[in-house]
Amino acid sequence: MGTVTSGHLIRGKEIPLVGPHHQVMEEHSKRRTNYATSELVDLILGGAALVAQAFPESKLPVANAARPGGGNLPWSISHNSGRDIDLVFYLVDESGASVVPRTMAPLAPPDGTLFTDGRTLRFDPRRTWILVNHFLESKTPEVQYIFMADFLIELMFQYARSQGIANARLKALRPRLRQPRGTLPHDDHMHMRIRCSPEDLLEGCRDIVNGREIVPEFDSSYQRRVQRLLLLYKKAQTPQERAPLAEMLGLLKARKARGILIESLSSCEEPLCLASLRALKAMEVTPSASTLVAVIGGTENLDTAKEALRLLRGCSSGETREVLKLLAVERTLTHERASFEETLNVREQACFVLGQMGKRTRSTFKPLVALLRSADPKVSAAALWAIRVLAAAPVFGDLGEDDFDGLWKRFKSWYAVNRNRTTTFSATLRALGHDVTRHLSQKGDARVLVPLILEEDYLSINAQLALQDLIGHRVPVDVFDKLSTHWLIRKEWKSWRRHH
Ligand SMILES: [Zn+2]
Repeated sequence: MGTVTSGHLIRGKEIPLVGPHHQVMEEHSKRRTNYATSELVDLILGGAALVAQAFPESKLPVANAARPGGGNLPWSISHNSGRDIDLVFYLVDESGASVVPRTMAPLAPPDGTLFTDGRTLRFDPRRTWILVNHFLESKTPEVQYIFMADFLIELMFQYARSQGIANARLKALRPRLRQPRGTLPHDDHMHMRIRCSPEDLLEGCRDIVNGREIVPEFDSSYQRRVQRLLLLYKKAQTPQERAPLAEMLGLLKARKARGILIESLSSCEEPLCLASLRALKAMEVTPSASTLVAVIGGTENLDTAKEALRLLRGCSSGETREVLKLLAVERTLTHERASFEETLNVREQACFVLGQMGKRTRSTFKPLVALLRSADPKVSAAALWAIRVLAAAPVFGDLGEDDFDGLWKRFKSWYAVNRNRTTTFSATLRALGHDVTRHLSQKGDARVLVPLILEEDYLSINAQLALQDLIGHRVPVDVFDKLSTHWLIRKEWKSWRRHH
């Protein structure tokens, strides 16, 4: 289910730690990472058995696949949904006997040697070729790619040519069999990934091709599946019956369902309301701010309010007036978790949304400044945060609550000369010693702005907004995961720089 980097494994199949033709290596056997989709398990065990037909006593060394339920592994970015596996190469010792090492170790060019435990082990191109060839010939499942170091691929191809395999055929394998760019050489293991099976596609499994998630919108069985779910949804009478259908439509990223899901938000009956919000988020569909604000203002369910607030951050700054309505009422939701009570203060969260929406007008500032007097310290802190972000300057940092009229007066005179966000921000940056132009519109400005994404929130958000103006990419403003935002925007900036 889902993608290899964010998905899960449902009803995964276990790879036995030891089998007739394979062995999970000692180090990896303690990790419980020997689970994968049934298609992948069958493929590797079948490959290992085929090798053993030609080379009896062969054991394929297996490293990480996935955890029983999938999810993140500390050793890899992918491997989340049971469609990735790390295999160690077949090795031989000086006498030519097959050896399974205890753990992964890099093989040295040019002929793939490894010194371990006082022995010299060597890459075995014969068995590796039979295995890799078997994998790449498989139709179901289809192997998306196998990563291994170029010099090892070349050793394997030399052997294949000696067996009469035509060069053209070997070349045809190369797009799927390669050393990936920008990572360490795969000289200690090969990484194989299979594509979603046709059945799994209908349950929400998703391939990533060229960095983009693929939704099989034009596949007729996918379309039939979505149609059927929509029909079931319409026939269902209660929110209890509809909720799992909404969830499934979200997993399938069935954007056709967005109309009925948004419609369900107006009455916001649980558990459908929460399921619809999650499904819309999965589809990357943002309902109107007024719909979301009504949900947040009405629901008693903390998770529903949280999900709606998350979606609200994606609304355009033109809808800021709707969000301001959330500042008018004091509202706190609570939820008993296993070991603590979680609370959500709607005003506090609305301040965080307003800061990220970035609309800098007096009608936004006025209620925020008023909230600085709030008796709840969390609310006044959030209001101050939003003001700093919107002002794009560290102003009003040390104002007491006693002199409110004076504060508002000082604010008005500050606002009269600092209405333009960009020029205020560039002044802030110059005061901090950065060499930037007044309108932040030059290539050199982008170079200064990119590292600021990792800085404090008011610098980070304004740098992100300025970069959006400058390079025109479509990454949403996000300070909850600055590292990912920085990575995405840096990539955009690099390609923009090449063209300017
Ligand atoms: Zn891997």
